[in-house]
Amino acid sequence: MKSFHIITLGCPKNQVDSEILAGLCLGAGLRFRKDPEKADLLILNTCAFIEPAVEESLERLGELLDWKAAGERRHVILAGCLPGRYDDDGSGGLEEIDLVIGPGGHHRLARWLGVEGRLPRQSGSGVYRYVKIAEGCSNRCSYCTIPDIRGPFIPIEAASVVDSVNQVVGQGAREVGLVAQDSGAHPELTGILDSVTALHPSVWFRLYYVHPAHFPADLPGLFESRPNLAPYLDMPIQHASATTLERMGRGYGPDRLSRIMETIEGLSRPVAVRFTVITGYPGETDRDFHCLESFLGRWPSLRHIAAFPWWPEEGTTEYERAALQGDAVPGHEAGQRLSALSSLGESIYHSWTERLMGQRFPVMADTPLTGHSLYDAPEADLQATFTSPVVPGSVVMCTLVSGSGSEMVVDKAE
Ligand code: SF4
Repeated sequence: MKSFHIITLGCPKNQVDSEILAGLCLGAGLRFRKDPEKADLLILNTCAFIEPAVEESLERLGELLDWKAAGERRHVILAGCLPGRYDDDGSGGLEEIDLVIGPGGHHRLARWLGVEGRLPRQSGSGVYRYVKIAEGCSNRCSYCTIPDIRGPFIPIEAASVVDSVNQVVGQGAREVGLVAQDSGAHPELTGILDSVTALHPSVWFRLYYVHPAHFPADLPGLFESRPNLAPYLDMPIQHASATTLERMGRGYGPDRLSRIMETIEGLSRPVAVRFTVITGYPGETDRDFHCLESFLGRWPSLRHIAAFPWWPEEGTTEYERAALQGDAVPGHEAGQRLSALSSLGESIYHSWTERLMGQRFPVMADTPLTGHSLYDAPEADLQATFTSPVVPGSVVMCTLVSGSGSEMVVDKAE
């Protein structure tokens, strides 16, 4: 076996795991192949958070096994959440799979490759990279499979996070996203942000997944004092009706959300907020939904709404309860609510376009012609298109030429 390729499905947290697996393969002397067809070893790092993700993972696994069957000396490793979700390890007993690794199981790959005992090094390239600050989640929200798949919340030591940041910056990253299932629960979060922003003043740092119940009181102060901490609050609020939030088991109510948002709105530096919400949740009445809509419409800082429908996931509290109570929201109603939120999201982008017109703001080039602003996470939010080429990785002050939907056109400011 001489070369490998990794296919990553799902979120940036999986990307970090893939980079650790890649580090082990490189440490074992394997060469990374850009073209998966030409590799001897394919690793599939899966997502299995909801049913559609499970289906996609299984489909890709089928493709990889076909690839293996079509050649000689080809190997397939199944990794990530799919094996974490199913007791049978997710492989379905398929003997063609050479190795199965659940979440956090990189030591199994190390053993398989014969490089056990070596420290895994996160290996990759690119303008923006991610570093994990914790594993797992202990919240047990009523609708979520993650705590079963990835285990309880375990923070990664601050020194080790700083090491990983130094590593990815050393490999050329110009923006580092700090990720975890529940970033705000890290007891040393603000200390970590303080250290990495000071150590690498020309690198942008962006914090992801701040659970409102664990919103760190000193985070707003850091948004003001650290210019290289992206003024960006990614907060999975999930809902704003007290009844729905309670049924979701989120551990906070609308008052706490309002208090956080009032603090953000009062900062001297504008912060772009991204909310993740779930609609069509069992028991969600018209009133609950209107409560969510009116909450979302209240905050000028809100820039992105990522809205998802509720998904009945086997093994969750809500799966059983909704079936017993028979109060799931009918599909067509859930669809209407989702499209109402999508229209609201569009109008919010429109307001931000008006707000940014005539202003100068920094944009990082991800490629010569595209990038992302300080207010937008790469890949997840609005993409900026430059009117003339820019060196990838550089940050340019721009003005907005036009904005529509999830794209904006920007011009280098004089
Ligand atoms: S906070 Fe809730 S929704 Fe998020 S991963 Fe943990 S259990 Fe799942």
